[in-house]
Amino acid sequence: MVRASCDARRHFRRTRLLDSATVPRRIGLFGGTFDPPHVGHLVTAVNVRHALRLDVVVLMVANVPWQKERSRQITPAEDRFALVTAAVADVEGLVAGRTEIDRGGASYTADTLRRLADEYVDAELFTVVGDDAAAGFTTWDRYEEVAQRSSLVVVDRPGESVELPPEFEWLRVEVPHLEVSSTDLRARFSDGRPLDYLITEPVLEMIRERELYGAPR
Ligand code: ATP
Ligand code: MG
Repeated sequence: MVRASCDARRHFRRTRLLDSATVPRRIGLFGGTFDPPHVGHLVTAVNVRHALRLDVVVLMVANVPWQKERSRQITPAEDRFALVTAAVADVEGLVAGRTEIDRGGASYTADTLRRLADEYVDAELFTVVGDDAAAGFTTWDRYEEVAQRSSLVVVDRPGESVELPPEFEWLRVEVPHLEVSSTDLRARFSDGRPLDYLITEPVLEMIRERELYGAPR
């Protein structure tokens, strides 16, 4: 009996979403393909965390981003997870999430929120999206469930409000908008333009180590 309950506890620890001793009360879920993660993602996550007093923002790495997979080759999920882990390693309050990778198959925010709500029953959940993702919110699978399980947060450019699906309430957080995208970064890798200041050094190092995006070692 004793052994069984120890095993169960060990299993629970291994599968916890957040590797932290304190139980978070306010959790931000910032999902993406992160192919690769860049300073726009990081600036957004730290500023949303500060503005909404979140204990933690989880950069949740999509396993199969079903809205993107037909349009281009996606870097393997474990590589993208390693890059996000490197990106947040020294940043307080940001963590890399692998729930969607561990679940396998196509990634849906509704399932991820359900999992977070099961594990952190008393926590308030916030789904954080950039302006482009927010504008397309009603194309998400089970978007009503997402809105019901979490507060929706959109990241606005200072002085400019993106148009949003009016049937939902949105929290708007203004962050300095950086015109950087993973698409532009992948193009920069392939044609050799500079990456300085667009991506952090630990991420760049890992990209070189793993020879991703055609980067020379
Ligand atoms: P891609 O160009 O491949 O679409 P991306 O840079 O848009 O990549 P994603 O992984 O698609 O990155 O985005 C994850 C989340 O980050 C989305 O909610 C998106 O709106 C947001 N986001 C992306 N780039 C920025 C940025 N520069 N500033 C703020 N939010 C961003
Ligand atoms: Mg995008």
